[in-house]
Parts: sequence; structure tokens; C-alpha cells
Amino acid sequence: MADSGANLVILGGGSGGYACALRAAELGLSVTLVEKDKLGGTCLHRGCIPTKALLHAAEVADAAREGDQIGVKSSLAGIDMAGVNTYKDGVVGRLYKGLQGLVASRGITYVEGSGTFVTSGGGAGAVEVNGDRYTGDNVVLATGSYARSLPGLEIGGRIITSDQALTLNEVPKRVVVLGGGVIGVEFASVWRSFGAEVTVVEALPRLVPNEDEFASKQLERAFRRRKIAAKTGVKFTGANQTDDGVTVKLESGETLEADLLLVAVGRGPNTAGHGYEEAGIALDRGFVTVDEKLRTNRPNVYAVGDIVPGLQLAHRGFQQGIFVAETIAGLNPPPIDEAGIPRVTYCEPEVASVGLTEAQARERFGEVQTLTYDLAGNGKSQILRTSGAVKLVKAGAEGTSGPVVGVHMVGGRVGELIGEAQLIYNWDAHAEDVAPLVHAHPTQTEALGEAHLALAGKPLHTHG
Ligand SMILES: Cc1cc2nc3c(=O)[nH]c(=O)nc-3n(C[C@H](O)[C@H](O)[C@H](O)COP(=O)(O)OP(=O)(O)OC[C@H]3O[C@@H](n4cnc5c(N)ncnc54)[C@H](O)[C@@H]3O)c2cc1C
Repeated sequence: MADSGANLVILGGGSGGYACALRAAELGLSVTLVEKDKLGGTCLHRGCIPTKALLHAAEVADAAREGDQIGVKSSLAGIDMAGVNTYKDGVVGRLYKGLQGLVASRGITYVEGSGTFVTSGGGAGAVEVNGDRYTGDNVVLATGSYARSLPGLEIGGRIITSDQALTLNEVPKRVVVLGGGVIGVEFASVWRSFGAEVTVVEALPRLVPNEDEFASKQLERAFRRRKIAAKTGVKFTGANQTDDGVTVKLESGETLEADLLLVAVGRGPNTAGHGYEEAGIALDRGFVTVDEKLRTNRPNVYAVGDIVPGLQLAHRGFQQGIFVAETIAGLNPPPIDEAGIPRVTYCEPEVASVGLTEAQARERFGEVQTLTYDLAGNGKSQILRTSGAVKLVKAGAEGTSGPVVGVHMVGGRVGELIGEAQLIYNWDAHAEDVAPLVHAHPTQTEALGEAHLALAGKPLHTHG
């Protein structure tokens, strides 16, 4: 059966898809949203929200363990994973309910079921769900991503991905994390705080390899202090599991014994089996090829979120969804600057960045100036007993005025500083623009202020 048609049919109700639906409905467009599992997608149910709940529980565990160090009599009696999971699931459940209410209140037609994109039916095409056809003047593909593994490494039992890692009933004693990217270091951090022995294995020469090298060095140092072992530049060659444990083999000949192996080697685009290829949608290594307006090669068919090459982040998906809705409504929004999307890794200590790394900036501008401000000089960071630093990258040589094109931060809670950092980057601010802005004392935002003061040539609490 075919429906009467909508302005917009969206396939996938994750961050990208539902944001597009909400904005399009707000702009007066008729919207059909098709979702086969749960509204909210990976971010809400298996990604951002549950992992950050675990990381908060980890922070509380560290605080209990370390209270004595600042005269607060406390100790960590243990981790009750059932209690942690109840807390985590409660957060997810409340947000899920709120999101369902929001979608219902905006008059969006919500269709439950697995959809297939088809080109027939007029307009941009249609999505077929259980024999019913939903046609649209425009179609947005937003089917997200899945946890990848390595060839020959089968997921199951003691070899898990982030999906299973979020539902563990007990804390592993020893765990190997394969992959030192965002997801890998976040789980490594949680399990270490919960008392596990953790080893991270990363084939590239450094942890968080997409970040500025400065951030990797800071994080590696902090992980060493936390006794999280990081084996970087080391290739994994295989794993065997028994009832008692898993043996992980490395190219160096070394073997690691653990209770669990977390495979966190990246996420692949979920683009197979939904009719894309059959409809002639251009794909590149499984990702949907789009132009700067997120248009696919088929007229009026767009793609948003993790299926589009680039940063796989929920807020990028939101932004792309909003962008497409506004484009369809004729608002002609400016293209999204991928480098202006803030990036936060929520391990302890946190890593936060926006803009270009020093290497990228050198490639683009030739001459750059950098400035690093150590959190040792920041009162609030001392109070929190965290260490780390803020690094600024400015376009142009020392002595010239140029925009700040990269902000990189490592330290406890620095993720909260990314709001200001992204304004600085996205508004092309120069150090001289930021230097006169007053930062509340004592806050960690002062570290950003101090860094810009120093870059503008008038350092305050900075040693020469
Ligand atoms: C462990 C983990 C932690 C993360 N932490 C963060 C974080 O802290 N911050 C951050 O910004 N990002 C984080 N991410 C990434 C974030 O979750 C993704 O970038 C985001 O969810 C992508 O949104 P999306 O809409 O593209 O896809 P998804 O959220 O994956 O949504 C796609 C939806 O499409 C549905 N679907 C697929 N195929 C069909 C079909 N044929 N028919 C109907 N429905 C279909 C799926 O069921 C799913 O609900 C994390 C990811 C993981 C795995």
C-alpha cells in the first residue's frame, strides 16, 4: 500500500534522522520517520549517553577511593554493576521517553519497522516497510553505523564490542582493549576506575591518533600514572578464548591474558541491505558519497550522520540533520565546517579539541604559532587535583596577528571548556579578541583566558 506522500521521508531515527525530522516538522514540512529499533539510535541506547553514565560512575568511584588524600574519610567498598546498570538505564530510559514524546508532539508520522529505500513511487523515491510504501518529495538516509571487527576476529563470548561492554554484569579483573581511539580509551578509563587491570593495544604509534600529538602525549602520561598499560605501534595478530579467559597475541610475539577482549577498532557505515546499492546510490567503501549540501548522487536524496564520511559524532549528526531540513525548506543554510565540530573524549583525564591540529594547520597555512598553557597554573585544576594543558594553534608566524585555528585541551573536566573554544575557532577570533574577555576565578575556563593572554603577548600567570 502506498501513502499519500510526505515532503520528507527519513530512514533511521538516530541522532541524524530524528534531528532532521524535528527541524523539518518545525519548519512546517510533513515528515515520515522510519525506525526499526529504538528512536534515538546508537547515541542514546548504545553510545554517548550510556558510556557517559558509566564514566560518571567511574568518577564517583575514583572520588571515593581518593577521598582520604584530601582528608575526607572514604574508601571504595566495591562496584555493584547491577546498581551501576540501573542508574545508567534510568538515564537512558528518561531521555528515551522524552524523545518519544517530542517526536509525537511535532506531528511526525513515526513508522516502526525495517525500511528499504526504493526509487519508484515518484518524487525522490520511497521507503518500503513491511509491504507498505512511504513516498517522499525528499528522502534522507540516516541508517548509522555498527561496531567493526577485524578479519577473522569473531565477536562472541569473551570477545566483545562496545554493545556488549555496556551490559556487563560484573567488572572484569583483566581486560585488553583493542583500539586506542575514543571508544577504546573511554572504556579503558571506566574499567580502570572500577579496579580492573587494563591494557590498550593500538596499531598506530599513539593513543587518540586523530588528535594533536600533544593530546596523545598528555593522555599517555596520565594513563601511565593511572597504571593503564598502553601498547602503541603494536599489531594484534589473533585471539583465542576458553571458558576461563582470552589470550591475545601481538605481532611482537607477546601474549596477553585477560577475562575480556574489547574490540574497539572503529565503526563501519550501516549501508548494506537497505536498498541503497540497488537504487544506484554512490558509495565509497560503504560510506554514502555526498556533496557539501549532503546531497547524494540521486536527486532529492540526502544522507546524514555516521554513513557520511567524516567525524562519527552525535552532534555532527544533529547538525547535518538540521542542515538538510533547512535546505529542503529552502532556507539555504551555510555549509558545515567539519573542523568546527567540537570533539570530546570523556576518559579521565578528558581530551577536548576543535579546529585543526598543529600538523594540519602547518599544511594549510605554512607558518603557525603554538602556545601551551599548563593546568599547573590554574587554581581550579589544582583544587580538582588534575593536571594537563591547553594548546593553541594560531595561523601565521610569531609576531603576526592571525586567527586561532586550533584549540586542544587535556585534563579533568576540560570537555566543559569546549563551548568557549568552539566559539573562538568558529568566529575566527584572534588572541587579541579573547585576551580582554574576563574569565571567572577560580574556574578552568581561566586556563583558556590565560592561554590567549599569553598568545596575545601579555601573559599573566605564565612562567617564561
Ligand atoms: C560506545 C559509543 C560511544 C559514543 N560516544 C559518543 C559521544 O560521547 N559523543 C558523540 O557525539 N558521539 C558518540 N558516539 C557516536 C554517536 O553515537 C554516533 O555518531 C551517532 O549515534 C550517529 O548518529 P546516526 O543518526 O548517524 O546513526 P545511529 O545513531 O546509529 O542511528 C541510526 C538508526 O537507524 C536505524 N536503522 C538502520 N537501518 C534501518 C532500516 N533499514 N530501517 C529502519 N531503521 C534503520 C537504526 O536502528 C538506528 O536507530 C558514540 C558511539 C558509540 C558506539
